[in-house]
Amino acid sequence: MNAEIIAVGSELLTPHRQDTNSLYLTEKLNDLGVEVRFKCIVGDDAEGITAAAKLAMRRSDIIIFSGGLGPTEDDLTRESIAEALGLKLQRDSAILARLEERFAKRGYKMTPNNAKQADVISSATALPNSQGTAPGQWIAGKYDGHERIVMLLPGPPYELKTMFENECIERLRARIPAQHIAVRTLKMAMMPESQVDARVAPIYKKYADIETTILAGGGEIQLYLRCRKDSQAEAEARVEDLAEKIEDELGDAIFSRKGEALEQIVSYQLQMRGMTLATAESCTGGLLAERITSLSGSSRYFLGGAVVYSNALKTQFANVPKALIDQHGAVSREVAKALAEGIRKRCLASFGVGITGVAGPTGGTEQKPVGLVYVALAGEEGTQVVERNFPGDRRNIRLFATQQALEMIRRALL
Ligand code: ATP
Ligand code: MG
Repeated sequence: MNAEIIAVGSELLTPHRQDTNSLYLTEKLNDLGVEVRFKCIVGDDAEGITAAAKLAMRRSDIIIFSGGLGPTEDDLTRESIAEALGLKLQRDSAILARLEERFAKRGYKMTPNNAKQADVISSATALPNSQGTAPGQWIAGKYDGHERIVMLLPGPPYELKTMFENECIERLRARIPAQHIAVRTLKMAMMPESQVDARVAPIYKKYADIETTILAGGGEIQLYLRCRKDSQAEAEARVEDLAEKIEDELGDAIFSRKGEALEQIVSYQLQMRGMTLATAESCTGGLLAERITSLSGSSRYFLGGAVVYSNALKTQFANVPKALIDQHGAVSREVAKALAEGIRKRCLASFGVGITGVAGPTGGTEQKPVGLVYVALAGEEGTQVVERNFPGDRRNIRLFATQQALEMIRRALL
């Protein structure tokens, strides 16, 4: 079975709002073994919604609408879909009574425009909305000779999620042939995508029954493995077999097999060894500290860090000798090393990280081009410095630099 998701709302056609409901729905549908083949965004306009609905009814088994169920003039989903299906809307007195009660409980008198939220498409089942006013609708039946399931869900993400979970998943499960899907997500850091694929493609190509996807970005490669079988055990065993073969090939380049972020893995490792970390960041401006402290409990291993943008502060906060900066420049192997060692000593940490580089887009020179970054890791056993030339824009270069630092810590703790 395949599905189509139609997000309704003019705001979703502006640069200011994103359709996130469809991402959530896609994940849930995939878990049920349903593939999403089309997604569509349509503004608050009756003709557009009707046209999108008619097209979807021709090509998709399951069609989910989100948004446009509210009480206002621009909420047109109900009437437009009734029109597309050639069905009538009927006002449901029980729903109307519940709406009035809901307003009364909050001390408001219900304005008349709210009543249209009680309009239900004939043959539809109304889906209660425990988080808001507008009920959803579920329609299952034959359309032009094809079995179709249509859902109308509210736009606000927490309302949609609650309704989908409480009202739709079981109904769908009852109509979808049982599917058993196993997935694995393997993650690697600081490796070129082409290199990973060259090494693993000969392996996964032998598993025609496992869907393999490679995604790359921000200094990370994610390898998704997905397998569908008649039983869960069979699917798990199959996907595990491939995951193991890939792990044999890539070894400790794989930092996660459950989808965790790199900072999460570093967090596990530091806590397991009772070690601590301090950072001195120049071109990343605290981004490394931000990533590390985005995890609850990071105070157990992260002592703190300094954003040392100016040369004076590199000296003042991380004890980098002024003469060293004068001699080699702030963006240099020597200064990265001194930053890492300086902050480690000042903070009495097990590890110190120093990052200095040219994030661009201005400030690059022939000797020190945009993207040049030095990352240093100082520990009990000495200091290592890595020189990299990262591609992309400022945001990307800074992200890469933090990824590099985390990967160095991870490898030092293997
Ligand atoms: P309401 O009763 O709130 O009017 P509704 O079903 O009419 O419900 P909308 O008015 O379309 O929903 O949207 C309400 C809110 O939900 C808006 O803030 C909107 O940006 C957000 N929203 C709507 N659709 C989506 C979507 N596809 N992804 C993420 N947010 C959405
Ligand atoms: Mg709307």
